[in-house]
Amino acid sequence: MSKNVVIIGNGIAGVTAARYIRKWSDFNITIISAETKHFFSRTALMYIYMGHMRYQDTKPYEDHFWEKNRIDLIHDRVTGIDAAGKSLSLEQGNAINYDVLIIATGSKSRFFGWPGQDLKGVQGLYGIPDLEAMETYTKDINRAVVVGGGLIGIEMVEMLHSRNIPVTFLVRETNYFEHLFPLEESQIINQEIRDHHVDLQLQTELKEALGDNDGRVRAIVSSKDEEIPCQFLGLTTGVAPNIGIVEASDVETNRGVLVDEFLQTNMPDVYAIGDCAEFREDGIGYRRIDQLWYTGRHQGKTVARTICGVQQRYNPPLFFNSAKFFSIEYQTYGTISAKPEEGIETLLWISDRKKELIRINYRKDNQQVVGFNLLGIRFRHALCEKWLLEKRTIDYVLTHLAEANFDPEFYKKYEPELVATYNRQNPDNPVQMAPKKGVLANIFG
Ligand SMILES: Cc1cc2nc3c(=O)[nH]c(=O)nc-3n(C[C@H](O)[C@H](O)[C@H](O)COP(=O)(O)OP(=O)(O)OC[C@H]3O[C@@H](n4cnc5c(N)ncnc54)[C@H](O)[C@@H]3O)c2cc1C
Repeated sequence: MSKNVVIIGNGIAGVTAARYIRKWSDFNITIISAETKHFFSRTALMYIYMGHMRYQDTKPYEDHFWEKNRIDLIHDRVTGIDAAGKSLSLEQGNAINYDVLIIATGSKSRFFGWPGQDLKGVQGLYGIPDLEAMETYTKDINRAVVVGGGLIGIEMVEMLHSRNIPVTFLVRETNYFEHLFPLEESQIINQEIRDHHVDLQLQTELKEALGDNDGRVRAIVSSKDEEIPCQFLGLTTGVAPNIGIVEASDVETNRGVLVDEFLQTNMPDVYAIGDCAEFREDGIGYRRIDQLWYTGRHQGKTVARTICGVQQRYNPPLFFNSAKFFSIEYQTYGTISAKPEEGIETLLWISDRKKELIRINYRKDNQQVVGFNLLGIRFRHALCEKWLLEKRTIDYVLTHLAEANFDPEFYKKYEPELVATYNRQNPDNPVQMAPKKGVLANIFG
């Protein structure tokens, strides 16, 4: 029997669910979204502002894709969920009935009630409206301040820097990103930020924003009682699940929409996925709330399977993330803790110019590699993932490391240095690198 599946939110989680439900069923599918009619890559927002891409370049699918795949798009805001009556109310359109509902409403910027946070020119960075506001409020300004030392914060700093706007960057911690980065990685990025003439102020918080007579920000006061004049204030102090409409319904929430391991809420036929979902209990290998692109995609696919009749438990993929800090690319695979861990050994190599870093963590007891951190160097994703899933030892990984590298320059210069570092630390168990063979043979072999 055909069902009406309705999805709130056209981000990576909702769209992935729709695509797989179409692949595996003949159900009617409707996606409702308020931000944009079509799905776009949120992670590419910065490149629109910086002029590297236009909005239309960030859409992974052509506009005709949706009609061709019989996925109806409604560009409207859901204002209420009647989970008992299985219907949704919309801001502009008529109410919509559903048989199955997927809540994929994403996140919103999180502010902490600072005096002046509602002034004009004060904002976060999450979606297209933020980009539009940023366009308006960063025209012809003399200085901007960005608060919050995470991935979105540094993106906003780089965006402003690309338009030659001097930036002061307030980071509460002792080093940039130190809650996720080991000290050496943080120090390299601190330096990279300063090399770009950004006024990085560590261990400094926002106290308040001061306005002018038009209600526009004119300065901030830092926790060190310094008044810093600025006409734009970016607040990138984290995101929170965007669940306002869900809180007003019978669907249970905590910080996010509460789901079990099948991504099912407390209400029949109502699921939640992506940034807005919160698992009721810690699972093996997953966090309560994951606000990441690749986990949203994985949850979308998992929930599609269940809705199409094959109940599927959420089994998170291996942890992966990538980013760019000005000119330094970053990749991480598996588990790398910010602080040294009991039972875990680290192999660390940093280039003399301190722009490249390789960290490989492995278990002391059986030598199994558990994670990679890379700065300024890229390894092949599929190969790192394969080694981690196959529980390869550090000897094995170092022996085959040549296969992981994209960069011929690195291949010649840095790889022997990493192996030499290992051999110096382990004189009784030296490793010899194997010459590079076909990459495909390594991935599929
Ligand atoms: C600037 C930036 C950079 C990022 N970089 C990375 C990165 O490098 N790597 C990474 O893994 N992750 C990154 N992320 C996080 C990643 O983009 C998110 O985890 C992911 O986009 C969340 O997808 P989602 O489908 O859960 O929700 P979203 O993409 O937020 O989509 C939800 C949609 O639902 C809509 N919606 C909400 N409520 C309603 C309603 N009531 N009615 C109608 N529509 C509604 C919203 O407007 C939104 O369009 C970044 C995020 C940002 C903001």
